[in-house]
Amino acid sequence: MSQTRWRILFAEPFAAQAVARMREIGEVRELTNCDESDLVNAVADCDALLIRTYSRVTRRVLEAAPRLRVIGRGGVGLDNVDLEAARERGVTVVYTPGAATEGVADLTFALMLALVWDLRGCDAGVRGGRFGETRAVVVPRGLHALTLGIIGLGRIGKAVARRAIHGFGMSVLFNDIVDPGPLDFSATRVEKDRLYAESDVISLHVPLTDTTRGLIGESTLARFKPGAVLINTSRGAVVDSYALDHALRSGRLGGAGLDVFDPEPLPADHPLLSAPNTVFTPHVGARTALAQERMNAVVEDVIRVLQGLAPQYSA
Ligand code: NAD
Repeated sequence: MSQTRWRILFAEPFAAQAVARMREIGEVRELTNCDESDLVNAVADCDALLIRTYSRVTRRVLEAAPRLRVIGRGGVGLDNVDLEAARERGVTVVYTPGAATEGVADLTFALMLALVWDLRGCDAGVRGGRFGETRAVVVPRGLHALTLGIIGLGRIGKAVARRAIHGFGMSVLFNDIVDPGPLDFSATRVEKDRLYAESDVISLHVPLTDTTRGLIGESTLARFKPGAVLINTSRGAVVDSYALDHALRSGRLGGAGLDVFDPEPLPADHPLLSAPNTVFTPHVGARTALAQERMNAVVEDVIRVLQGLAPQYSA
């Protein structure tokens, strides 16, 4: 068994060190495209498949990979892997929970502060020779006077809550389908309807699942406090982007800060791209050097599985 040369497929870019590490134990191939058909064609003789955000490991991909033993997802969300089909076929899925937690929590506040302080408008005013005119606008309320509603109090939701309470003095409501147990901060667990009605800022930290796809749509947005701000650093498809666009244009919603979109990137003519009171980032929540290092370390768990050892983090 120790003489086996494993066949390893990188479907998306990983750090050179991660690729080099896998070359120590097997033959490595790297794809430049990761559409379903690219994967189906490439996985046939693979023992291990390394992916990040954009590969869709569907049942069809898994059926085309009779030798596959392990999928390594450098990252957190597993919505791009058919976990049930993987389980049925005895394929272990390993990933890197926690790798991006602090970065995504930071970014949540970057988006929130940019909206509450209208940083885009301020910056344009200074550059456009409208210093005094721009300065005349008064920020209605700073973060300390706002209630934050967190949907999904997992790793990232908790890191956001800590910053909100200990860093900014915000009041925090949260909703989760699971009881988070004892917390090291003071936040109130509420039903979603109460969270929608009472939060000035609503921040999404749920995984993309059958129950969260389209969670924030026309009927939910109608229950938000008028003028509320939405932050989404989770997955684009948790929000109906057309309903969001409408709520922003009608003034029902005060603003939206988005790091994630559906699809990514949005088509150039998508209305949301020109909606008012928005700040967008291109899915950069995990783009800190430390998060990237931790995500690349998924190769160690892939190797453990190939060697018949228990991985550190499996789905
Ligand atoms: P986690 O599993 O620790 O937390 C998710 C929480 O959501 C859990 O507590 C879960 O019980 C809760 N939840 C699930 N369905 C729910 C529902 N219907 N209503 C309320 N709560 C629900 O995950 P995490 O590490 O905090 O990451 C959360 C998500 O953030 C990931 O799944 C991923 O999609 C996204 N993410 C984005 C980036 C980025 O670059 N923007 C980086 C990392 C993770």
